[in-house]
Amino acid sequence: MEFIDLHAQRVRLGDRIDRALAGIVERGSFISGPEVAELEGRLASYCGAGEAIACASGTDAIVLALMALGIGGGDAVVVPTFTFAATAEAVALVGATPVFADVLPDTYNLDPASAAAALEVARQQGLRARAVIAVDLFGQPADYDELASICERSGVELIGDAAQSFGATWGGRRVGSLCRLTTTSFFPAKPLGCYGDGGALFTDDRDVADLLRSLRVHGQGADKYDNVRIGLNSRLDTMQAAVLLAKLEIFDEELASRNQVADRYRDLLPAAVGTPRLDTRATSAWAQYTIESDDRDGLAAHLRADGVPSAVYYRLGLHEQTAYSHFPRAAELPVAERARTRVLSLPMHPYLEESAQQLITKSVMACVAR
Ligand SMILES: *Cc1c(COP(=O)(O)O)cnc(C)c1O
Repeated sequence: MEFIDLHAQRVRLGDRIDRALAGIVERGSFISGPEVAELEGRLASYCGAGEAIACASGTDAIVLALMALGIGGGDAVVVPTFTFAATAEAVALVGATPVFADVLPDTYNLDPASAAAALEVARQQGLRARAVIAVDLFGQPADYDELASICERSGVELIGDAAQSFGATWGGRRVGSLCRLTTTSFFPAKPLGCYGDGGALFTDDRDVADLLRSLRVHGQGADKYDNVRIGLNSRLDTMQAAVLLAKLEIFDEELASRNQVADRYRDLLPAAVGTPRLDTRATSAWAQYTIESDDRDGLAAHLRADGVPSAVYYRLGLHEQTAYSHFPRAAELPVAERARTRVLSLPMHPYLEESAQQLITKSVMACVAR
């Protein structure tokens, strides 16, 4: 059994991607081929965003968002402590200071009250509070309504790190159209993944989009030999765009299958393990299906013995990790510190069969009943 089965998807796609890739090799248009612009158009209309800007990774997408907003030294950006390191890494890479906030117990997403407290901590430390990064953990959008109103009151930007939530919705609107700047990742294990690294940004702001397009190619100006700002080399390559174009065609069906898998888990799992709770305003892209257990490591070992892979996202909060422990934080982070001892993610992908889910849930039940 696979934790994420990319082979089943490949079988379903047949030789479509292979043919597209062979065509690009034949043409030799490895960088900025027509597939990239086509993909950007498709992604923007899929999300209901004005513009999509493809780039080299989800991490670069966050770096580019921060650069486009002019965030750097002396600035503070609030990020949840319970997320993948890249969210805070991007902040540190542009020379700004990440300030860690707690998450909500139901959704593991940024707690608006803790985010407000972290903004206050930033000010007390003499930093300019500039932005809050909402992370849509495990595929469920954060509370964009409440976070937007806190950001507005505090005069800071709201950035959405939607690396795990491409395709999800909040209040009937798709991720990508929920705040001024949204970033996503096409890492192979994400809901929409390519065959390597890739990412994208979404915005309705034409000026920001133009700035991002310049920043991702070394700060290129209207004259490509005159670089007008310091940028990155962060293009999405043509082959990855071709992979994503093919996968986007089956993406809605895959999302429906992920939801079916999540519903089955909910029906089959015992009450003793906490199953994911969705906000009534949200749908999830189900990047992960994460349960909670009092004996998480015991449960993981029991599953492993039954041939069921599982994973822990995340074993430590960022404020507890070596490279990040010196950064400022809200005074209390109790929800993240408890969750990281209890969470366990089960196999989740659109091709997970009911028979496999029965095996998984039986194994969970046998362990819980011990
Ligand atoms: C995966 C991920 C990223 C980084 O994406 P890459 O494409 O791997 O650089 C950033 N934030 C979150 C929450 C992620 O899960």
